[in-house]
Parts: sequence; C-alpha cells; structure tokens
Amino acid sequence: MPVDTATRAAWPRPFPPRLSARVNYLLHHALTPNRVTRALARFLERHERAGWAFTATEKAVKERAFGCRMCGQCALPATAYACPQTCPKQLRNGPCGGVSADGACEVFPEQRCVWVIAYERAEEAGHTADLSLLQRPVDHRLTGSSSWVNYWQGRDDDLWADPAGVRTRLPIWPTSGAAA
Ligand code: SF4
Repeated sequence: MPVDTATRAAWPRPFPPRLSARVNYLLHHALTPNRVTRALARFLERHERAGWAFTATEKAVKERAFGCRMCGQCALPATAYACPQTCPKQLRNGPCGGVSADGACEVFPEQRCVWVIAYERAEEAGHTADLSLLQRPVDHRLTGSSSWVNYWQGRDDDLWADPAGVRTRLPIWPTSGAAA
C-alpha cells in the first residue's frame, strides 16, 4: 500500500551521530552514576517542574547529537552511540534483512543503515563485541522520560544480556550501587 509523504516524514530516519564514538565513550564518564547524580535523580523525580526542565534539556541535547527519540532506556553505550530508535523499523538488535550490500537503509535508501553506522563506529573504537549483546525489548511506558535519570536510578541495569542470556555490564557501566 502506498504511503503518503506526511506519514513517511514522521518515520524515524537513520541518524549519524555528530561526535566520534571515541569522544562519546569519553564523555559518558561524566554521566557515571555516583552519590551526586543519584541524589539529583531523586530530586528531579520529586519535583515535577525541575524534572520537566531537565528532561527537556536532555531531549534538546540528545536529539541534536544522536537523533534521540526519548525512548527512556538508552542503548547508546552498547551501540557505539548510534541510536537504534532512529532505525525506521526501530530494531534494537541489529539490522533487518533489507539493508543493501552497500549499507543503505531499505526504507530510506538515500541514507546508511544505522546498524551499519553502529558497526563502523564500534570497529573504529574497538567495541564490536558490544554489538553481540541482546537488547531487552523497549518498555514503552518509559517513552518520554529522562534516560539519564533512569540510568542513575539503576533502571538500565538489565538493558542487555550476553547471547546466553546472562545479564552483562559494559566496561563503562559501573554497578548501580557503587560508591562515587
Ligand atoms: S534514549 Fe533511546 S531514543 Fe534516545 S538516544 Fe538513547 S536509545 Fe536512542
């Protein structure tokens, strides 16, 4: 069935992140959960206006940097910071069968598949093993919430598992109960 232009325009589009994967891995350390960030997260959840302002700021920053669609459960650390929610099919565990041999997206052939982008970035930064992790299905109840607050509150601890189903932490992913 043909799709009208307005509907097509609303679909997610593969988004090449603005910063290199190496820079993103470095910047991630600034977000590492600690006593301060956990206290901030609790404060933001108790104060609606402050929480709203913080989430709006996160949205503005991540939309520009990653094409973030505010799923609230951020996969970026396991995908070399290429957002899987910008896949038109929103596939969280690798590309569909429609990606072309030259790496083009099936839905938007003028753009590269975001999973091809993720692989290239992971390879450049030495993180290809991260891409074999299995991502948990998206919990749509968290859509629109702050993924930073959810991360600091320890809600992302089981976002992915190894191929045997064992919960796995990334090297940059500290234990949620760890001291600062
Ligand atoms: S919060 Fe979700 S939509 Fe936003 S960058 Fe992370 S994975 Fe993508």
